[in-house]
Amino acid sequence: MPPQPRPGILATEPYQGGEKELPGFSRVARLASNENPFGASPRALEAYETAREGLNRYPDGHSAALRTAIGEVHGLDPARIVCGAGSDELIGLLTEAYAGPGDRVVYSRHGFLMYPIFATTAGATPVAAPEANLTTDVDAILARVTPETRAVFLANPNNPTGSYLSRASLERLHAGLPEDVLLVIDAAYAEYATAGDYSDGAELAARSGNVVVTRTFSKIYGLAGLRIGWAYGPPGIVDVLNRVRMPFNVATPAQEAGAAAVQDRDFVARSVAHNTQWRAWFRERAQAAGIEALPSEANFVLLRFADEDAAERALSTFKAGGVLVRQMGKYGLPDCLRVSIGGSEDMHMAADALDAFAGQPG
Ligand SMILES: *Cc1c(COP(=O)(O)O)cnc(C)c1O
Repeated sequence: MPPQPRPGILATEPYQGGEKELPGFSRVARLASNENPFGASPRALEAYETAREGLNRYPDGHSAALRTAIGEVHGLDPARIVCGAGSDELIGLLTEAYAGPGDRVVYSRHGFLMYPIFATTAGATPVAAPEANLTTDVDAILARVTPETRAVFLANPNNPTGSYLSRASLERLHAGLPEDVLLVIDAAYAEYATAGDYSDGAELAARSGNVVVTRTFSKIYGLAGLRIGWAYGPPGIVDVLNRVRMPFNVATPAQEAGAAAVQDRDFVARSVAHNTQWRAWFRERAQAAGIEALPSEANFVLLRFADEDAAERALSTFKAGGVLVRQMGKYGLPDCLRVSIGGSEDMHMAADALDAFAGQPG
């Protein structure tokens, strides 16, 4: 018998990213991975270029300048920040550090797919709490917490539904959890949220011993290809992350570009304004075509069709119009498609495809 990995590792299917290519089209609207259509801040790109000078040297193993820049912009203590190779790395490390065989990890039924994947590879049991109206249900999560539960993972706003929990609901979720259960609030889309009662959870993490917030440079900052994320939490959890992460987990160009990116608040403001405008525009166009488009606090819109067959036909219609969007079967939503907010031309292509779909015989 060949060497066998730990139990759980072969029990998951590897995560699959969104499609990138559509042969035969001169212009493809890539709306499958929630990427920033503006690219990245010019200041970030310049810092990336400059970093080439030092590539023979190891990176700063503590990402100190990047943490300082993040701390300044967000008003957080840099000593409580840990940087990672994308927030996925930090989410995976948190899972492995706090959960193993015999333990349970609770997540919301239509939450981010990486939570059950990481829980399973860690040997723990992922437990899905049902949702009400495609929104995280605090009571359903709390009802699934048992003495075996080590962690609760929550994306807020959530991918792929676009729904969110208010500050008060977050507080209620936290208040209902035992102190020894880790609450991970994944705020990958925090910048896009426009609801007045939204909170990324940092204020909760600042005064609780069991709350960690993760953030990313992959979405609003347009640096998905560089792999930069960060976590903010209490000293005990920060210490754990610093023990289990790789010593040089964030490459020098990523640290430099990230520090420049976080300081370019104009770029962030322009990206948010564009997203807010086109998110509303696209939902209206979908609804005008008779297609349900869920409210969203993120940089994508979830479309819900009559059934799986209709969603399949809509996917084909998008592709025929040069538009790539994301299928949702793996999220338990086979009747849905997720459409990222792209550039204005992308959004016109996507809306035209919806009109074409609506004009087809059912
Ligand atoms: C995109 C996304 C992330 C970001 O992952 P990175 O590893 O930072 O690129 C994290 N959580 C959710 C819910 C996401 O959709």
